[in-house]
Amino acid sequence: MSGIVDHPSAQYPAWLGAAGKPLVPITVIVGPSGNGAKALALARAESGHVVYDKNDVITELSGMPWPQAPEFIRPALQRRNAFLASLATPAGVAGIRHVWLIEHSPEAWQRRFWSERLGAQILLVDPGRDRALVAAAAEGVEAKWVHRWYADAAKGAGRPAVAIAAAEPSNRGYDGRHRKMRDKQLAKQPLCQMCLEVGRSTPATVLDHIKPYRRPDKSIDHKLWGDPKNHRSLCEDCHNANGAQRARPEKPPGAGVDGRPLDPAHPWNKNRD
Ligand SMILES: [Zn+2]
Repeated sequence: MSGIVDHPSAQYPAWLGAAGKPLVPITVIVGPSGNGAKALALARAESGHVVYDKNDVITELSGMPWPQAPEFIRPALQRRNAFLASLATPAGVAGIRHVWLIEHSPEAWQRRFWSERLGAQILLVDPGRDRALVAAAAEGVEAKWVHRWYADAAKGAGRPAVAIAAAEPSNRGYDGRHRKMRDKQLAKQPLCQMCLEVGRSTPATVLDHIKPYRRPDKSIDHKLWGDPKNHRSLCEDCHNANGAQRARPEKPPGAGVDGRPLDPAHPWNKNRD
């Protein structure tokens, strides 16, 4: 299953989106089997939200736990595609405010497909191969599917992007270690934690340090910088708002009157376009 195919049960149907984009927002959670995507979506879903997992359709059609009925994937895909297409019509979205779609989509073009055809936001939830294998085994999913996801991801991705829809230019000055920390944090908590506090589900794109890691003399406290307990996931808006708010009372030397650090190398400045 590679490529965009013109068929009612295609994994990536060529015709999808041709008649218009969905009238409600869609979040596509991608990642390997065993990543807990469905549990995450169910935990975040509010009233009027639909969590759509084609494995549930397989179970419904076959009457068996889905890993035992792989031959039902085609009819399940056909039904998923019809559902997605219907979201472009007022009748199709009656009573629906938001759709969470559970997919694997290991390759960059596959995630692009969802964002281009459905205007979807993409959340990659990647717990790491070892944890995925354990969780997949508990669900009765063969290890080969987890291995295949990582093989396809390695072959098909420029980098292990966390949120393709909000992908950052690669020249923002993050070093490799920051990117790794960020990817890890966002895989652990893919939604903005400040938005969650007020009941909003917003994909996070920024690794935020709860305690500022810059000392008053602007040197870096490496312990605070690298400590996962000092990390949280934020969306860009909350990160910018929070940075401005926080800078005022502390007013570190080297900050402007608005509290923003003057140092262009400071991460608050690097996060801005
Ligand atoms: Zn937020």
